[in-house]
Amino acid sequence: MAKLLDGKALAKAIREEIAEGVAKLVGSGAPAPCLAAVLVGDNPASEVYVRNKQKACEKAGITSRLTRLSQTTSHDELMAVVHQLNADASVHGILVQLPLPDAIQADAVLRAIDPAKDVDAFHPENVGLMVQGQPRYLPWTPHGVLQMLRRGGVPTAGKHAVVIGRSDIVGKPMAVLLAQRGRDATVTLAHSRTPDLPAVCRTADIVVAAVGRPQRVAGDWIKPGAAVSDVGINRTDAGLVGDVDFAAAEPVAGWITPVPGGVGPMTIAMLLANTLRAAGGEFE
Ligand code: NDP
Repeated sequence: MAKLLDGKALAKAIREEIAEGVAKLVGSGAPAPCLAAVLVGDNPASEVYVRNKQKACEKAGITSRLTRLSQTTSHDELMAVVHQLNADASVHGILVQLPLPDAIQADAVLRAIDPAKDVDAFHPENVGLMVQGQPRYLPWTPHGVLQMLRRGGVPTAGKHAVVIGRSDIVGKPMAVLLAQRGRDATVTLAHSRTPDLPAVCRTADIVVAAVGRPQRVAGDWIKPGAAVSDVGINRTDAGLVGDVDFAAAEPVAGWITPVPGGVGPMTIAMLLANTLRAAGGEFE
């Protein structure tokens, strides 16, 4: 039976560490870290995400600001807001909530954010620094997975990790980070064109599933004792499920993350970590 990697409990512990880091920073005379979120339009899911991020900031002692813009905001108007926030020394982190309306070129907006304030870690400069092993900020979800593996006692050095999914925000950075010196995993980055994925997966000591397909990873894909990180969030008639068939994989795996309550809760904690770092605080 696998050891459960409890993301809810771990994220709570990490948020408390971040709150301590913020208190230490403020105690040294620095201003509290400030995260400025920009919300364009009235997408209900985005409203919830932004509210949750603001609440998490508040609890950690991080100041949060919200700029609300209408659905009809033009590209140039949003760019002007980003430039203003870049120039505002009291703002440490900037987060433009996605998705943006079709009239706005999201890539250009994300690239306009000052890389030092890019707490999403999407800016090409920050992606480049990460690939070179000198990260300024780490992308939230892969960072959350790494924290779960490290703090859950999962060894990575010399192990074979199979990352399923090659998105820019999860799969690709995950593969790079696991292979980095210090973590030293041998990584296979699998995707929809990978032949015989079950066989590839069976050779993995660590599986990270970021596929976006409910319960795609079957129990008999898992090598006995492997660590299974399930990034997937799939809303189905049966409720929220991951990309891994948890019931079938759990008896075989050595470690496993549940869905919900696994990788999901870690992501906001990692945003807070980046915001603390943006303000000059420390987080390991
Ligand atoms: P994307 O849709 O951007 O990428 C999915 C990847 O999975 C693609 O690389 C795709 O391959 C690959 N893929 C799709 N079908 C298969 C298949 N049958 N076999 C093998 N590979 C396949 O998704 P994201 O990376 O953005 O997200 C992945 C999942 O993680 C989603 O469920 C999402 O909701 C969730 N998520 C969860 C987060 C969290 O906080 N827990 C944060 C972000 C995402 P190809 O490139 O060839 O098309």
